[in-house]
Amino acid sequence: MNLIQYAKSFLLYEIVIGFAKTFSYMFRTKVTLNYPYEKAPISPRFRGEHALRRYPNGEERCIACKLCEAICPALAITIEAEERKDGSRRTTKYDIDMTKCIYCGLCQEACPVDAIVEGPNFEFATETREELYYNKNKLLDNGDKWEAQIASNLAADAAYR
Ligand code: SF4
Ligand code: SF4
Repeated sequence: MNLIQYAKSFLLYEIVIGFAKTFSYMFRTKVTLNYPYEKAPISPRFRGEHALRRYPNGEERCIACKLCEAICPALAITIEAEERKDGSRRTTKYDIDMTKCIYCGLCQEACPVDAIVEGPNFEFATETREELYYNKNKLLDNGDKWEAQIASNLAADAAYR
């Protein structure tokens, strides 16, 4: 037994086996991604950063019904609204405190006009808490920025809603 162990030590047996194992992995498909240059696919149902959407003519979808505010379990949404001159009802204030949000998606589910949605963006880390207090302009900007992908995700999931 001792002779075998001496022989293994002398011939660096464990090191050779270790290198052989490492070498064998060099030709296998890589399972790691070089983030942020490579990203994994995400589901159309992914619940990321919030956005307020517009209709193609630029009009806000939100009709200030406040269903999203009522259903939010984290009390993260604050809405104020008033009637416009044309009789339509629109928000004057739409805030989301993203530090409270638990990304449950209930606001999106409650919205009758697909105005508030959780988009595909998950890269919105900030350095301060204040930057995570989103107002209406920020949410509408998000909607404008991500509309193509949001619309495509909603279409992909429409049959299951
Ligand atoms: S995802 Fe949930 S917690 Fe976040 S704002 Fe919507 S309803 Fe509230
Ligand atoms: S986002 Fe949707 S649910 Fe919320 S107030 Fe506007 S229309 Fe109503």
